Amino acid sequence: MSLEEDYRNLKQSAEAKINGEAENNISRNRFSSLLVSKDRNFLLSPDGTKVEVSELEGKVVGLYFSANWYPPCRNFTQILIDAYEHLNSNGCNFEVVFVSSDEDLNAFNNYRALMPWLSIPFSDLETKKALDRKFNVEGIPCLIILQPKDNKDEATLQDGVEILYRFGVQAFPFTKQRLQELELQEREKHECQTLTNLLTINDRDYLFGHPAPKQVPVDSLVGKTVGLFFSAQWCRPGVKFTPKLVSIYHKIKQMLTPNANDEDFEIVFVSSDCDQPGFDSYFNTMPWLALPFGDPTVKSLTKHFDVQGIPCLIILGPDGKTITKHGRSLINLYQENAYPFTEAKVDLLEKQMDEEAKNLPRSEYHAGHKHELTLVCQETGGGPFICCDCDEQGSGWAYQCLDCGYEVHPKCIRAVDFGSMLEK
Ligand SMILES: [Zn+2]
Ligand SMILES: [Zn+2]
Repeated sequence: MSLEEDYRNLKQSAEAKINGEAENNISRNRFSSLLVSKDRNFLLSPDGTKVEVSELEGKVVGLYFSANWYPPCRNFTQILIDAYEHLNSNGCNFEVVFVSSDEDLNAFNNYRALMPWLSIPFSDLETKKALDRKFNVEGIPCLIILQPKDNKDEATLQDGVEILYRFGVQAFPFTKQRLQELELQEREKHECQTLTNLLTINDRDYLFGHPAPKQVPVDSLVGKTVGLFFSAQWCRPGVKFTPKLVSIYHKIKQMLTPNANDEDFEIVFVSSDCDQPGFDSYFNTMPWLALPFGDPTVKSLTKHFDVQGIPCLIILGPDGKTITKHGRSLINLYQENAYPFTEAKVDLLEKQMDEEAKNLPRSEYHAGHKHELTLVCQETGGGPFICCDCDEQGSGWAYQCLDCGYEVHPKCIRAVDFGSMLEK
């Protein structure tokens, strides 16, 4: 090694040391200035022992604002526990600090007992308030994620809750760069989305048909319009919607059979049932295909399509690309006529509906409601609603009782039998 090289190495290592110290200072000061109070330099561990704030050094830290009494918090706490345990068992340096909005010490202690991470003591209101202010916390649950070596505001993530729901543990270490990568991956995945890559996994390239466990190759659906039906037997609206979807499924199939070759509609049940018997008995009521119960694809599809609630019907076109995520409400509005669910078809149906509505009476009495109902559309006070007669979603034209908030689909109006009313 030449003298010159030697010198360069020495200089580099000295620089690295200085930078390292500077970084350590940032993290030490940073977490301390946020989490230490004038008479406390520790946090509480799950069993109540004291852990010095300085132990957070070098870790990615999530400040978790939450409260026991609020169900969305309880839901997210479980998501965060799973992520936390997964990350820490894989050697990731991730810590969470609970910032409680619980009502009293008892509630705090009960909630904290569920959490494998650290907490700010319940009595330290001042620190909690200061954190609230500093990070502009507007609602709970809220997860603020701080980087160990970067104390700039841009490096802090405010929307840890959404990020974990959307990307899960993949988002670690929760840097802006990592999120950009994930967003790019997601875009690419949607761009190259095909039926085969959506519905197959490793060694499973089939779906279940009837009589179960008949196997139907996923490839046999390529070129068809396919509905992905997310539902579960424990979901009452899902169970209620199913027979309706079954009858419309048969009608669409019937419409298509005259030209034997273009029978090109299928539905695939994507189950979030809790157990195999639940899945079996529910799937028995459906004439279409299903992913196997508990298949990992269920989770990946839910995430891929960002399914927020069930029942949900996603429609894929013959090329495997998404046509609409609103299959359910299109079925409710237009029944079998909604097929093939394309934008052009929906535009046409909307125009037809506007045309038909011109001939509808401005007001109606409905057998299910005591007041007169007024016809409304989007522009005159209608909007997305739940039909009080069939309990299904609607939008656009509706008969409405403003006083009661009662609203029904025009097709659900049942005439009042005035004769029998008079007899009573
Ligand atoms: Zn209705
Ligand atoms: Zn009313």
